[in-house]
Amino acid sequence: MKITAVETFVLSTTLPRPFAYSQGWVTARSTTVVKVTTDEGHVGWGETFSVGLQPPQIAASVIDNALAPLVVGRDPLQTDVIWDDLYVRTRDFGRTGVVVGAISAIDIALWDIRGKAAGLPVWKLLGGAFRDRVQCYATGFFRLQGQHESAEMAEEAARHADDGHTLMKIKLGFGLADDIVVMNAIRDAVGDRSGFMIDVNHGYGPNDAIRLATALEDFGLRWIEEPVIPEDLSGYRRVRDAIRTPVAGGEAEFTLYGFAALFAAQGVDIAQPDICLAGGFTALKHINVLAQSHGVQVNPHVWGTAIGQYASLHALANTPTTHPGLYADQPLFEYDTSSHPFRTALVSQPLQHEDGYLAIPDGAGLGFELDEDFLRAHAVEQ
Ligand code: CA
Repeated sequence: MKITAVETFVLSTTLPRPFAYSQGWVTARSTTVVKVTTDEGHVGWGETFSVGLQPPQIAASVIDNALAPLVVGRDPLQTDVIWDDLYVRTRDFGRTGVVVGAISAIDIALWDIRGKAAGLPVWKLLGGAFRDRVQCYATGFFRLQGQHESAEMAEEAARHADDGHTLMKIKLGFGLADDIVVMNAIRDAVGDRSGFMIDVNHGYGPNDAIRLATALEDFGLRWIEEPVIPEDLSGYRRVRDAIRTPVAGGEAEFTLYGFAALFAAQGVDIAQPDICLAGGFTALKHINVLAQSHGVQVNPHVWGTAIGQYASLHALANTPTTHPGLYADQPLFEYDTSSHPFRTALVSQPLQHEDGYLAIPDGAGLGFELDEDFLRAHAVEQ
C-alpha cells in the first residue's frame, strides 16, 4: 500500500459568545484536519489541535509544505518509521509546537489507515484495551465576564451533575480571591455529588499556585493542572513538593523528549499529552512507557473535534494503570462541554457520554464516518 495524497482542511467558526480562560478570550473554535489517501482505497483522518488562540492555518502550512512531500509514496503501515523520519527531518525548525502538532495529525491518520486496512480498531493494534469504557470528567467553566461569576459557575456545575457527571474540572487562574469564591460556590452547589480538579492554565507563578492549592486543601482535589508555565520545570517541582494535591501538566508539552524532561524534573504526578499535539498515537506510546517508568499517571488532554475525541478514546483504552489496585485511579476522558460545532457535526456518530462514561469504539480504524461534504462546506480559504 502507498500513500497517494495528503490534503489539509482548515476549519474555523466564530463563537456567538467569546469565552475566557486564564490566558485570554477565545473568539473562535478552529482546527486543522488532514486526509491521507492510499492507492488501496483506504482513507485516514487526523487532526492538529488548535490551542485556544492558535490560527489553524499555521499547521496546515507545515503539513502542505514540509510534511506531505515526505509521506506521499510511503507505506502507511510503517508508522514508527514515518514518525521518526518526520521528526528528524523537521528537527532543526520543529521539535515542539505547531510542527509536532502537524506530525500528530498525519500520525493519527496513518493509524486510522492501519486499522481500516486490518479491519480492526486502533486500540487493538496498539496492543489492546485496558478497559472497555472510560469515565468522563466535565470540562468547561469558562467565563463570559472574567471575574465575579461564581453564581454562574455554580449553575454550570449543577447542570453537569444533573447530566450524570461525578467529576468536573474548574477553570481557575482569575485571581486567588475570585478562584476561592468560585470553588466555594461550586462545592455548595454540588459538593455532595461530584469530585473536582482545577486548571489554572499556567496563570500563576509557583507561590500563588501553592497558595491556591493550600487554600483548597480540604476539597480533596483530584489534581491541580498547569499550575505554572510549561517552561518552568523547577517551578513545577517547587509546587509539587509544597502541596499534597497531585500536580498535572503536559498539554503544552511535546514528544518523548519534552515529557522526559518533565519527568526528570519530577514535575508532575499526572502527564497530560494531547494526542493531536504531542505527536499522535506513536508519541503517546513513547510517553506511556516513559511515564510508567517514572511512576507518573497518563491522563490525556482532550479539547479537539470529533476526530481528536475518537483518537483520544483509543489512546485511553490502551493507557495502562500506573498504580494498579482493585480501586485504582483510572485515566479519565476530558469531556468538553464548551461550544464547538465541529465536535458533533463532523462525524456520523458524535461521542455522547452515558451516565458519565464513554464506551471504547469497536469500528475499524478510528471508528467513525466523517461527513466530507460538511468538512468541505466549512473549510475556510488557506
Ligand atoms: Ca488544561
